[in-house]
Amino acid sequence: MEKYVCDICHQNPASYYLIDAEVSGGSVERHICDTCIQRSPDQYVSEIAELLKNGVCQFCSAPAMIVDGVPPRRKIMCYECAEKEHG
Ligand SMILES: [Zn+2]
Ligand SMILES: [Zn+2]
Repeated sequence: MEKYVCDICHQNPASYYLIDAEVSGGSVERHICDTCIQRSPDQYVSEIAELLKNGVCQFCSAPAMIVDGVPPRRKIMCYECAEKEHG
C-alpha cells in the first residue's frame, strides 16, 4: 500500500487510513496522521481514533491502523492485511 500524506495538515505522513462506506455504495478514503487524529473536531474521526488506540488487526492481531467500512461490517486491520484484502 502506498504511503499517504495526511488529508488534514498536508504535511505529516498519514498513520491512519479510514475507509467510509457511503450510502450511495461508493467509499471515501481518509488519510490522517497521528497528530491530527488526536485533535480532529470530527466526531467520526475521534470515534475511529478511540477504536484504533487499543485496536488490533482482526486478522493477524498486529496493531490496527485501518478502519474499513461501517458497523456491522466494519473491519479493523493492519496495513499488511488491508493490502491482502484490497489486492
Ligand atoms: Zn495531519
Ligand atoms: Zn493484520
